[in-house]
Amino acid sequence: MSKVISTEMERLLATGSTLRAMFEEGKVMRKKYGAENVYDFSLGNPNVPAPEEFNVSLKKVIDTTDSLKLHGYMSNAGYEESRKAIADNLNKRFGTNFDIPNITMTVGAANAFVIAMKILINPGDEVVVFAPFFLEYRNYIADFGGVTKVVPPNPPTFMPDMEQFAATINEKTRAVIINNPNNPAGVVYDEETIKAIAKVMSDAEEKYGRPIFLISDEPYREIVYDGVEVPFLTNYYKNTLVCYSFSKSLSLPGERVGYLCIPNEAEESERIIAASSIGIRVLGCVNAPSLQQLAIIDCLDVTTDIEAYAKNRRALMDAMDQAGFEYAHPDGTFYMFVKTPMEDDKEFVTLAKEKYQVLCSSGAAFDCPGYVRFAYCVSYDMIVRATPNIIALGKELGMTK
Ligand code: PLP
Repeated sequence: MSKVISTEMERLLATGSTLRAMFEEGKVMRKKYGAENVYDFSLGNPNVPAPEEFNVSLKKVIDTTDSLKLHGYMSNAGYEESRKAIADNLNKRFGTNFDIPNITMTVGAANAFVIAMKILINPGDEVVVFAPFFLEYRNYIADFGGVTKVVPPNPPTFMPDMEQFAATINEKTRAVIINNPNNPAGVVYDEETIKAIAKVMSDAEEKYGRPIFLISDEPYREIVYDGVEVPFLTNYYKNTLVCYSFSKSLSLPGERVGYLCIPNEAEESERIIAASSIGIRVLGCVNAPSLQQLAIIDCLDVTTDIEAYAKNRRALMDAMDQAGFEYAHPDGTFYMFVKTPMEDDKEFVTLAKEKYQVLCSSGAAFDCPGYVRFAYCVSYDMIVRATPNIIALGKELGMTK
């Protein structure tokens, strides 16, 4: 027992070292086999560069903005012109009625999420997540003494099972998390699913006599394929808070910019809006990065090159099809969720890594054993080079003759 480190941080240090070990292992493998012979699908770091429009906008902002404004503090919720531009853009795209107060600029989606938790969660309150889910949710929820309640995965579609969902909600439920498009499953919840989720939640609100908030975590909103539509959740359920990020849509994960959107229809919306400004302050971020807030204004209708991800997706689907592996239909994000023929997906991860130099992530880490995640935000060439090994892996596991 440490005399210095808190119990919670001790727990995080223990899990953190597993991830670090995997990262180090990748480095060792690259040295041993040569970088071109290691096929690393383990990380969700965008490999497609930010669009040119963003760099042009960044330069324009630097050249045309008064230095004190450019680098100074502003109100905690962010620059009004950024918030107004985002509100107008959402209204244009989704028929909503947002204005400046409905948008709080944040340090990415992660910050929007923890602000939402800070606003809503008392110790012991329950937060429902649908498996498989982004691994940080548990940590973010625990930061505020919340308790994560998991709705089991529903393969092969991974659309949440409504009976299991309804059975997970009780009088302690304060919030439900939706991540659409979904990391790690790569699926997109369709309108029918969203309506069903909203119905279960409205019924529960009525039954327990208090609001239950839907937290919509949507950093992958624009990364979808074949014309798939992602429903905008405030149009379906009034007690919704949207956590958005430019990390993936504009390939800016290191710039740390996003927003929290709070609709007027939400219960006590004015107090939530006021609380969001306090939230970003007391969580130690104070405000989102000033330069980035201004630079994204001209880029709200721009995305990174989604076609590059679409090409990778096609190539990886072809590889998996030839190898005989089943996977969830990848409608969005840059992740493919592949079913492992053996129950223990960690065995698959080890075999793929040690015999075929293919690195992927265990589904168990996302509360969904029996699957592995392949991140295809990698070079197209790497997918092509990895294909014979993926096929050989399938053969060894008896997926093909
Ligand atoms: N939510 C999900 C589902 C993610 O996959 C990520 C990042 O990978 C985040 C939130 C955090 O995004 P941001 O960089 O905007 O904080």
